[in-house]
Amino acid sequence: MAEVAAQSVEINDALFCSAHIKEVCTDCAFDGREENDAFYGYDPMDREPIDTPNVTQNKDGVYQCKKHGSEGCNQCFGWKKQITRARTAAKKAGRK
Ligand SMILES: [Zn+2]
Ligand SMILES: [Zn+2]
Repeated sequence: MAEVAAQSVEINDALFCSAHIKEVCTDCAFDGREENDAFYGYDPMDREPIDTPNVTQNKDGVYQCKKHGSEGCNQCFGWKKQITRARTAAKKAGRK
């Protein structure tokens, strides 16, 4: 099977590359920031990507955090908080 570029997975409403679970991945030529910012009602900007915790897939293929074994874990998958923080940092650094 040929490798498909920029395959994405959704974890708790945010998009990541499916191979490495990264929001921005050079290996996969994937950048989910625009979609993820838009999901939370923000305009896309050049911010640091959000960190993804260790995840595992359960037998149904659903991603869960390794720490708590939860698919909607707000502690590990609290993207909005992370995105807001990254946007504030980017603004302070003078990025647009
Ligand atoms: Zn990747
Ligand atoms: Zn968790």
